[in-house]
Amino acid sequence: MKLLSVIVPCYNEEETVADFYAEFVKNRSFFEKKDLEYEIIYVDDGSKDGTVGEIRKLHDADERVHMVSFSRNFGKEAAMYAGFEHAKGDYVVTMDVDLQDPPSLLPEMFSYIEEGYDSVATRRVSRKGEPPIRSFFARMFYRLMKKISRTEIVDGARDYRLMTRQMVDAILSVKEYNRFTKGIYGWVGFTTKWIEFENVERKKGETKWSFWKLFAYSLEGIMAFSTAPLAFASVLGILFCVLAFLMILVIIVKTLVFGDPTSGWPSMICILCLISGVQLFCMGIIGQYLSKAYMEVKERPIYICKEEI
Ligand code: UDP
Ligand code: MG
Repeated sequence: MKLLSVIVPCYNEEETVADFYAEFVKNRSFFEKKDLEYEIIYVDDGSKDGTVGEIRKLHDADERVHMVSFSRNFGKEAAMYAGFEHAKGDYVVTMDVDLQDPPSLLPEMFSYIEEGYDSVATRRVSRKGEPPIRSFFARMFYRLMKKISRTEIVDGARDYRLMTRQMVDAILSVKEYNRFTKGIYGWVGFTTKWIEFENVERKKGETKWSFWKLFAYSLEGIMAFSTAPLAFASVLGILFCVLAFLMILVIIVKTLVFGDPTSGWPSMICILCLISGVQLFCMGIIGQYLSKAYMEVKERPIYICKEEI
């Protein structure tokens, strides 16, 4: 008998925890047919509501429900990592608790694993029900990533993914602190089958990601999987050097030919502001990378577990 581990990160999700379980076990006959045992690992990401209590209730009724509970909110990336660490399954799947990753897709996903794929990933083809600005920036982010990173990061990709043990072990071997799992999936490689589905809106509760949280997360992704901004800083530096050189030539010629009354003070100030602005901006880029390196060097644990059941 093979074991399927289901990793479900939860942050303040008391309303949805039980619904997820109910929806998931609808696949029961499929699991029986395939001779699959399952374990559900709810990772409580430091919820402040009754999430832990709800999970405990499910555990009392079904011993296949496990929980890893964090000492505080460490973020979804940390929650997924904890899930991977605790999963014992031959196959592992990560899913959102809000039913935006429909469990009914599992049989189809499983059939591709049987065909020999190492992982089956999902992407939503529409962003129906999402604020337009958010969709716009999301599209821009993926377009930019395609240009500046060698790791494949797919537009609309969800964290809903079924993987073999081998791939999970590979992901666990990537121990970086600043985690951007969507990139790590691409980075570890292996064959991936993509399946598409229409966006499903959250059933209950509300999204935990504000626009700015997503924005910060996208910067995280850029810095974790590309050093292009650093190269951009050097290119900008070179451009300004060339410009300055040309301007020097122009001024010398002008002085020799026309003579030079002292003027140009306002333009001088403008140029000074522009160039010092660019310099600070580039230093900021370097600073961002430095701060990431600083966090990595500290080797802090990715999460702190408070309780396990
Ligand atoms: N989540 C988490 N920690 C966080 C934020 C979110 O574990 O700090 C979980 C959340 O409980 C849910 C999943 O990540 O299971 C996706 O979150 P959400 O539905 O709020 O994001 P969206 O679907 O709107 O992108
Ligand atoms: Mg959601």
